[in-house]
Amino acid sequence: MAVLQVFMVLILNSISHEINRCSYFHHATPTFSNSRTFIMESSLKSLNLDGQFNFKDIHHAAGDFGNRYHFLPVAILYPKTVSDISSTIKHVFNMGPASELTIAARGHGHSLQGQAQAHRGIVINMESLRGKKMHVHTGELPYIDVSGGELWINILHETLKYGFAPKSWTDYLHLTVGGTLSHAGISGQAFRHGPQIDNVYELEVVTGKGEVFVCSEKQNADLFYGVLGGLGQFGIITRAKISLEPAPRKAKWIRVLYSDFYSFTKDQEHLIALEDTVDYIEGFVIINKTGFINNWRSSFNPRDPHQASQFISDGRTLYCLEMAKYFDLEDTDAMNKMDNLLSKLDCIQQTYFLSEVSYVDFLDRVHLSEKKLREKGLWDVPHPWLNLLVPRRSINDFAEEVFGKILTDNNNGPILIYPVNQLRWNNKTSLITPKEDVFYLILDFCGRTHLGVKQYLPHYGTREGWRAHFGTKWEDFARRKSTYDPLAILAPGQRIFQKAVPFHDTAHHMIQHSQDVWK
Ligand SMILES: Cc1cc2nc3c(=O)[nH]c(=O)nc-3n(C[C@H](O)[C@H](O)[C@H](O)COP(=O)(O)OP(=O)(O)OC[C@H]3O[C@@H](n4cnc5c(N)ncnc54)[C@H](O)[C@@H]3O)c2cc1C
Repeated sequence: MAVLQVFMVLILNSISHEINRCSYFHHATPTFSNSRTFIMESSLKSLNLDGQFNFKDIHHAAGDFGNRYHFLPVAILYPKTVSDISSTIKHVFNMGPASELTIAARGHGHSLQGQAQAHRGIVINMESLRGKKMHVHTGELPYIDVSGGELWINILHETLKYGFAPKSWTDYLHLTVGGTLSHAGISGQAFRHGPQIDNVYELEVVTGKGEVFVCSEKQNADLFYGVLGGLGQFGIITRAKISLEPAPRKAKWIRVLYSDFYSFTKDQEHLIALEDTVDYIEGFVIINKTGFINNWRSSFNPRDPHQASQFISDGRTLYCLEMAKYFDLEDTDAMNKMDNLLSKLDCIQQTYFLSEVSYVDFLDRVHLSEKKLREKGLWDVPHPWLNLLVPRRSINDFAEEVFGKILTDNNNGPILIYPVNQLRWNNKTSLITPKEDVFYLILDFCGRTHLGVKQYLPHYGTREGWRAHFGTKWEDFARRKSTYDPLAILAPGQRIFQKAVPFHDTAHHMIQHSQDVWK
């Protein structure tokens, strides 16, 4: 089979020192005059809704997982129905371009740079739309019909009751359907199934004019593909039909180490190109760390305990290939095949570690880390994260510069790196990422050397940045914005368009605006 591909690189960091934290804060509070606030509040209160607005308890909507950007809204809408969302958007749309009011859907608030926030605007708490029951449809093309505010962890538990599960995941499942479908939803299954946005049959979307559309590959396809990966710019996802597959019960979770980057990526690429291969492939970089294998030992067993105990990391930069093979009952034949496949890997053989866990525990693995970090008070610290999609042709240059020269000391968080097979990705959708600190260096390096790197979950403050990010897709992106959200009411926290500014001038105004507001 022809390959590939793009490498997903995630550099995840956390800042635990208060001193640093302040300098990362981008804080803005509302400056509406009392009378304007009163008029605006009264007009929103006059809407006939099943849910409700809250104008007082709004501070949590000015935060997110990144914990570096804080923009206070004027109100939070807790919708009970799709019509609540549609009426609110229509109301704001009818106020016309003179009103500053914008609207941000907030999923689980796990954005990194205020993307789910609305400065002086309305935040819609999508999780309160979850009241609607999830429906699993079995049959030839099984799917689950869920609210856009549903958490993936709940979808997993619900579908498992029917023996099914979604095909493509994120590493962390406490994120909403609308939040991940607005970006892509990428994890170690994406080499086979594509990202989550490629595993959706149908969406219900409320546009920036307040109109409600059902869309799919066959119906309102322009909106469907625009919204998938569309950074929340064209509409709010209120419902999604997500494709399912029969769920396995268990996973063999394997880790092996490499000291040579080339062998590491060669083996990753080899594995994702095979038909009969593992079900999940990721990897991470270990820089200047000792004793990490001891930490693994609580959950992973070395295949050869004696040899593993002889392994000394010695401060080297190491690369860990992480894989999982799903299974139901122990199938000796399949496992022999797997062993055969793994024995051909060019890794440090004494570092073969295996863990056997339930499918749920495997998929929900990051939640365990979350619990531990919460206990230590380290979950809610600022998180400057960088997610990059690096073309295969550039991955060795990238690694040499970044892992060899820039990130030479221990990083505070994991650095994930794994290839995905773009051939299996649908290129009709829109796509995405963040930056900070040492990350500027990496971006600068990427720019200077023309590696063709793209941010995933993008974050730009300039016209050149956004245009370069979208490349030839920019015109289409701007056209869709003017069609579905002509006043630029939706998802202002992405900072791509500014409300009521003509789209051709948008980038320029966006820069002006961001200089004014995001200082
Ligand atoms: C611990 C952690 C692990 C992660 N792991 C992965 C990973 O493995 N793979 C991956 O791809 N990503 C990963 N992410 C990134 C994550 O997918 C995105 O940040 C995602 O947007 C978060 O979902 P959320 O529900 O919290 O969205 P929010 O942060 O609430 O919203 C994100 C954006 O989507 C918009 N939005 C939210 N809901 C809707 C909706 N219903 N309709 C339209 N727009 C909407 C918001 O306005 C905002 O612009 C991870 C994030 C964290 C914090």
